[in-house]
Parts: sequence; C-alpha cells; structure tokens
Amino acid sequence: MNLAERLSQLGTETAFAVSIEAARHAAAGNRVYPFHLGDLNLPTPENIQQAAVKAMQDGKTGYCPNAGVTELREALAEEINASHGTSYTADNVAIQPGGKPVIGKFIMALMNPGDAVLYPNPGFPIYESMIEFHGGTAVPYGFVEGKDSFELDMEQVERGIAAGARLMIYNDLQNPTAAESSPQELERIAALVREHNLYVLVDEAYLDIRFGGRSASLVSLPGMAERCVILYTFSKKFAMTGWRLGAAIGPSDVIAPMIRMNVNDESCSNHFVQYAAIEALRGDQSEVRRMIDTLHQRRDKAVDILNSIDGVFCYRPNATFYLYPNVTEAMTRKGMAEYEALRIGALQETGVSFCTRLHFGRELPGEQNKYVRLAYSGIDLADIEEGLTKLRDYLQVK
Ligand code: PLP
Repeated sequence: MNLAERLSQLGTETAFAVSIEAARHAAAGNRVYPFHLGDLNLPTPENIQQAAVKAMQDGKTGYCPNAGVTELREALAEEINASHGTSYTADNVAIQPGGKPVIGKFIMALMNPGDAVLYPNPGFPIYESMIEFHGGTAVPYGFVEGKDSFELDMEQVERGIAAGARLMIYNDLQNPTAAESSPQELERIAALVREHNLYVLVDEAYLDIRFGGRSASLVSLPGMAERCVILYTFSKKFAMTGWRLGAAIGPSDVIAPMIRMNVNDESCSNHFVQYAAIEALRGDQSEVRRMIDTLHQRRDKAVDILNSIDGVFCYRPNATFYLYPNVTEAMTRKGMAEYEALRIGALQETGVSFCTRLHFGRELPGEQNKYVRLAYSGIDLADIEEGLTKLRDYLQVK
C-alpha cells in the first residue's frame, strides 16, 4: 500500500509501549511496579459516575452541539474565570474528546507549514509529533535544575524566538519534570509573548493537582487571555482519563475554527459524559480532595526513598503526580551509558517499570544529565515502598 508521505512525520507516545512491555513481564508471572503511565488507579468520584448514569437515563445519548453542551461550556468558563481572573463566556470554550485533541487543533488553527513552534523537550511527546506532522519546525526548549525545582531554560526560549518562532507550547505543572513556573518566570514569559506577538498553547492538564497553595496561570497576566489557548482536561484531576473529555479555552476567533474542526472530526464529544463533567465542576469535591491527599502521601514516600539511593537526586515537587529524578551518577556507578540498559535492567531485575527522558522528546545536543520519570498515580503506597526499595538495592549493587 502506498501510504501518505506525511505519515513519516507522525510521532507517537512511546510510554504506551513501556506499558505493553510491563504487561508482558507481568503476564510471564513477574511482579511489576507500575511507575510508567500517567494514569490513576483511583476510581472516578462516585457523584461524577452517578451523574453520567443519570444523564444516560435522561436520554442524553444522541448527538449534542459540536461545541459542547452549553451548560458545560458556561460552567468551564465560570471555573476558569474564578481561578484565572479572566472573563471568558461559553463562546470561548470548545469541548473536546480529551485534552490531547487540543494540541493538534491549536496547531492546525494557527500554524502554517514551515512555521517554527517552540515546545518543551523533555515534554509531552505529542507536541513534537503534531508540529512535524502538520509540516512545522519543532523548536525545543529545555529545563535547568533550579534551587527547589526545574526551571524553564529561558535562553533557549529566547533563542527560538530570535530564530523566528511565533507559536509556543507551554505546559505549566509540567510533564515529565513536575516544574511549576514561579511568578517571576511567568512574568518573563508574558513579557516575551507581548514583545514578540506570540500565540501560546497553555497546557494546564495538571492544574489543581497540587499539595498546597494555588496554581497561577500565564493566562492571568495582562495581555495573555488574548494570546493564549488553554488546554483543559477532566482526565487527571477527576480521575477520568478513560472518559475522554477536555476543552480548548481561548479567544473566540481561534475557538470558532476549532469548533469547525470538531464538526469534521468527531461531530461532538460524548454527550452524557458532559453532564458528568458539569457535576465534576459544580458538585461535591470531597472525593477529589481525598485523591489529592492520597497522591500527596505517595509523593512523600517515593521522594524519600529515591533520595536515599546513592547517586540519585529528586526534587519534592508541589504539583502533578510525576517525579523526574536525576540518575546520572547512579548510571555511571552501574557502568550504564544508555537509558534503555537502565530501564530494561530495572524491569527485569526488580519489576519496577518507568519511563526515561527518551520518552519525552528527542535528546538535545549537549545534554549531560540523565533523568527518568516515575508516575505515582497508578501505584499504591505499599507498592511504592516495596518497588523503590528493590530499585535502591538494584542501583546500589555494581
Ligand atoms: N497534556 C499533558 C502534559 C499530558 O501529560 C496529557 C496526558 O498525559 C495530556 C495533555 C492529555 O491528556 P488527555 O487527553 O487525557 O486529556
């Protein structure tokens, strides 16, 4: 078959391949400690489940508006206005079947072939894939180790802008580093966006998955609501990854063509799930709070054990459910130069399954440090302790 040439530019999310390998290892009778996938082993809160059942029984089973159910669009606009200080209305919201489709639709709406697009690397691999698939040039920016967390490498951002990038993808509460922009960093990004007239996809998939304080948003700063499209998702905060519901929120002149893309792609997002989403936003939040407490305990356990391993350093991030420890020295001590040697060795010897830096974009020239990503969203406290203790023993034996 003569497949289209553009397919050679389509990337993938290689973390799913790690899941398949882990499942195969488990099927062969081995114990697996799943730290690889950003999914939750916690159920969707009961009130949200019940709202979906009720909506189905109420007959919300046919097509609904392409842009989404108006009440949900209004509820989301209200929610974001309350947290971000914006003044969105339903017209600024396009409901999507997940947060992920916002990435491709943003690019299709704003990028012409040949345009340069800044994107985080390490970062969610779909950015790079969608930019290149649609004929753009993916211009990476990385992160540097700051005092208490990773920080955006602003020099690389500035270099990308100098090289002509006018679109930027920015993920605050970041996957995989768990980096959260400081107020100063947000100000610096906003200043660049205003000065160079950039348009930004603000991926806030992990908004509110945090263990204290409140998330700040780039979109709250002066001039940003006009230039940013927010990627919103119900997946993570409400443990709804499999329900597939999210939204693009931004200026109505970008949202309108995205809604036209909905007409062409999926007609509408799942109708009854949208009523469950209204309950998620407006209903009782006690189960969500319990979930965050559970994740908080898991974070502390995982960070404590990782930092007890010789040659491993891990921040204690205040948000997301990811850890991105620096394992450079541990790998050197083990005589390992390649990420895959570490990942596969750890899986086979200990059952601990995780992703490495390689699953989050192409390695950039000059990268010295080695990192792996552990998600603690899909593994219970006792297994975190057991698995990471085995990993410690494995890494400390030459
Ligand atoms: N953005 C980031 C940074 C993510 O990590 C993910 C999922 O892992 C998504 C977007 C998309 O999530 P979903 O399509 O489930 O909303």
